[in-house]
Amino acid sequence: MNNFNFKNPTKIIFGKGEIENLANEIPENAKVLLLYGGGSIKKNGIYNKVTAALNNFEVVEFGGIPANPEYAVLMEALKVIKTENITYLLAVGGGSVIDGTKFLSAAAVYNGDTPWDILTQNIRTEKGMPFGTVLTLPATGSEMNSGAVITREETKEKLAMGGPGLFPEFSILDPEVIKSIPKRQLANGLADSFTHVLEQYMTYPIDAKIQDRFAEGILQTLIEIAPTILNEEFDYKAASNFMWSCTMALNGLIQKGVPTDWAVHAMGHELTALYGIDHARTLAIITESHYKYNFESKKEKLAQYAERVWNITEGSIDDKAYEAIEKTTEFFKSIGINTKLSEYTSDYEGTAEEIAKRFTNRGWLGLGEHQSLSPEKVEKIVKMAY
Ligand code: NAP
Ligand code: FE
Repeated sequence: MNNFNFKNPTKIIFGKGEIENLANEIPENAKVLLLYGGGSIKKNGIYNKVTAALNNFEVVEFGGIPANPEYAVLMEALKVIKTENITYLLAVGGGSVIDGTKFLSAAAVYNGDTPWDILTQNIRTEKGMPFGTVLTLPATGSEMNSGAVITREETKEKLAMGGPGLFPEFSILDPEVIKSIPKRQLANGLADSFTHVLEQYMTYPIDAKIQDRFAEGILQTLIEIAPTILNEEFDYKAASNFMWSCTMALNGLIQKGVPTDWAVHAMGHELTALYGIDHARTLAIITESHYKYNFESKKEKLAQYAERVWNITEGSIDDKAYEAIEKTTEFFKSIGINTKLSEYTSDYEGTAEEIAKRFTNRGWLGLGEHQSLSPEKVEKIVKMAY
């Protein structure tokens, strides 16, 4: 196992009815900016619960943060923070609203030329403006980690940022919010969290037994609950397991002491930036070709995954590893997610070359857990995903 530090300061408040207790978590004299997305919280009653709980606070609102939080929109929110002398941010939404809020937390205290530098120059935030979240969509794990991904339509870029100062102070996880989530987004949540685990687990060498078994437990749970989650009828037990799986998939725990890959996300982000494809779906597009291309280096771990997660016990290491890749693709398809780029756009020719060029220009010359994935290799993987 590699050396590691582990500190996760986010307080999780989990369960039915917990949104009502929101006021206990915010400093009494705070001036709050309530941030939300395209309006789903107004239709499903979450907005009313949140504003009722914030009754005694001075609150300013900023709605309209789009999926794949857009820099230009966030810059408008930054103006509000400055002109209204906001002291506390509250994100009510999914990964997009929470990531957007993290950007604002960093940008509100940033003294450089333009906040876009935070993304292009990889400036880590040691202490941002304090914020909390009310999660409305289990998927990204953003509610309990310190990373964010911001999109800029003008330049067709989607870049990551983070730093120890960007953990939410608290996150309220009420599984009942799942009732109103459309099927497409439920499937996205299953696929995104599943891929988060794979990115931290499907690496070599193999020697972190606790991390492996936590990871396998999350994967098994997601596979087990997926059909119930996608069922028309809401099931609180499945919903609570779903919500906690998504958080546990990316709160730092399973990535400690192990090498992590994240190449699937790096390639996936480009597909969102270029074609606007939902984040989770871009991951499903890249996963199969990534594991097939890197088969030799990952096959032992793939075989372990085959045995422990998919109960594939027959055959050689190569056989099991191969079957596990197929099972993963089948899983994505079983939740209604297509796994080829050509199923999302007919305009895919040249995509692989474009992504390789972007990575070269950014100096991303070696992705993956051993920094061995060059832009040339990335080009091949993306092509295999057409
Ligand atoms: P999202 O983009 O936050 O939300 C997707 C859609 O679901 C929106 O249209 C939203 O509507 C709707 N929605 C949310 N909660 C709902 C509810 N309870 N009922 C009905 N509709 C609801 O989705 P996401 O998958 O959570 O976030 C994706 C973003 O997170 C991407 O930009 C991705 O790159 C990023 N990401 C971040 C991390 C991280 O660790 N920080 C990890 C992976 C991905 P409204 O807009 O109307 O609310
Ligand atoms: Fe993700």
